[in-house]
Amino acid sequence: MCGIFGYVGSKEAPKILIEGLKALEYRGYDSAGIYVPLNNQQQSTQQQNRCIKAVGQVKNLEAKIPADFKGNIGLAHTRWATHGVPSEVNSHPHSDCSGRVWLAHNGIVENYSELKQELIAKGHTFKSATDTEVVAHLIEENLKTIADFSSALKATLNTITGTYGLVIIDANDPTKLYIARKGSPIVLGIGEGENFVASDPSAIVPHTKKVIYLNDGEWAILQAGSYQLFDLAGGELKREPQIIEWSVEETKKGGFDHFMLKEIMEGGKVIKNTLAGRLDENTLSIKLPELLGVEEKLKNIKRIIITSCGTALYAGWVGEYLLEEYAKIPVECEYASEFRYRSPIVEPGTLVMSITQSGETADTLAALREAKRQGAVIVSIVNTVGSTIARESDAVIYNQIGPEIGVASTKAFMSQVALLTAFTVRLAELRGVTTTEADKKVVQEILDLPAKIESILDSREAIKDVATKYAKYNDFLFMGRKYTFPIAFEGALKLKEISYVHAEGYGAGEMKHGPIAMIDENFPTVALCPADSVYEKMISNVQEIKARSGRVLAIATVGDQTVSKMADETIFVPEVMEMLLPIICVVPLQLFAYYIGTGKGYDVDKPRNLAKSVTVE
Ligand code: GLU
Repeated sequence: MCGIFGYVGSKEAPKILIEGLKALEYRGYDSAGIYVPLNNQQQSTQQQNRCIKAVGQVKNLEAKIPADFKGNIGLAHTRWATHGVPSEVNSHPHSDCSGRVWLAHNGIVENYSELKQELIAKGHTFKSATDTEVVAHLIEENLKTIADFSSALKATLNTITGTYGLVIIDANDPTKLYIARKGSPIVLGIGEGENFVASDPSAIVPHTKKVIYLNDGEWAILQAGSYQLFDLAGGELKREPQIIEWSVEETKKGGFDHFMLKEIMEGGKVIKNTLAGRLDENTLSIKLPELLGVEEKLKNIKRIIITSCGTALYAGWVGEYLLEEYAKIPVECEYASEFRYRSPIVEPGTLVMSITQSGETADTLAALREAKRQGAVIVSIVNTVGSTIARESDAVIYNQIGPEIGVASTKAFMSQVALLTAFTVRLAELRGVTTTEADKKVVQEILDLPAKIESILDSREAIKDVATKYAKYNDFLFMGRKYTFPIAFEGALKLKEISYVHAEGYGAGEMKHGPIAMIDENFPTVALCPADSVYEKMISNVQEIKARSGRVLAIATVGDQTVSKMADETIFVPEVMEMLLPIICVVPLQLFAYYIGTGKGYDVDKPRNLAKSVTVE
């Protein structure tokens, strides 16, 4: 999820590696490490000394590097923990038992648990709690029967499932960097007598503009003066480097103007990463291994309370609708800031769910502690591994989406809702209130989501045009019903956060109980009217607004002419089953807010007065 940098050439590797890590720092990380082998074969004990790690910032790592730490090849990593808390032992690089194989990894090895058991049974000793370490031991194991390092690597890549950007050094032949990619970006930098590899071109641009992007399922060998590319069958691939024209600043944002847009555009990938290892494409089932310790309790719970703040609260509202409808259990979702002070009653048999990107949100933490004091089981959805809320929960479902840099949350919301959906299906299964056929249908639709999200993202220029038309208004009403009710609030929140325009989320059924008094030609409404069970009701509400000269921007299912004829503008979204509408409908609203905010010239990545992690109440 985070940063990789590797170097092979004739210069001093440690300095270049540290610079590379610093160029990747903007991505956010929890620990860092570096491995620089000696130039000739060494005993494993000496190899251990060639690996230095530190928790926290790259400068902490830099401070630990002795002056005589030298070498012309090496690899380095900044870690964003997904498996195992942020700690020195869990930070990368990782190695095998013998100290021959050294590697840094971005991504998630989904079958690490099975592989780890098998390797332990074969006598391997693990040092860390990471998924990554299995890769080093598996290469070591394969080297027992396959003499050649690259063939052992290829066999390993064909065994592991999940996502990886990998950079590996064989200490017995410290002249080569072995590199592999599946699902986590990897780019090679081709220099003069020296070569580079990074998870992100921003770290390479200061050295060379000649790059080769590895595709999924490809691996490579880099030496000081050469590079070779292969596919997983071992066939050699021919590819010339391309020249990157981006500036360093642009490169960090993946070519996008803002992190917020980059993170919105990651939408499809976010769903895939979130569900990596949790969704079985063959059996069309959901597995959430992190719930194992609390499953017995979950079977018998009587009630769920979801507490969170801001965007995560709106994800929680979606969760309330999902869980009550599909898992048939009473749920309340409420502001953590209210829950903590209002003398809530947490009856025996209550599950409390905390949702927080940072895992440090002060009010959410206080609510969790109050619920725990009253004996609730706590299951959290958290992006930051090892954060306070993660540590204090009975079970944690991590988002697995890497750091979110934009202050206004976009990709975390998508991921939170995707996890709540997965949790709902799993809970329904545990409670015996669903059928395998029903679950399969949901899972299949979830699998189809990334392509549907991509289709909305592909139409972003059209959404930009719509946003331009609406940029002149100072007030907005966002309205939805049922599954789009929380999305109305989230759409309004996004607009407020980054464009400083007044926007209110409302349940469409509440229109006549107040907000309709505000409607006139200067007060537009964003109406969420996809094809769902409350469609007819939404249509009536839109008509009521039109009858009062209100301008309507509708979000509707592709091909819906009824809505598009009625509304002033319509943004179409693909058809999807009702319970997945929140994930699909939020995408155009994120883009709409983004284009209004940037159209006004604001720095949407750092909205005024807002902090990414709200650690005070
Ligand atoms: N899953 C690995 C870990 O938790 C890699 C994390 C990363 O990509 O930084 O160590």
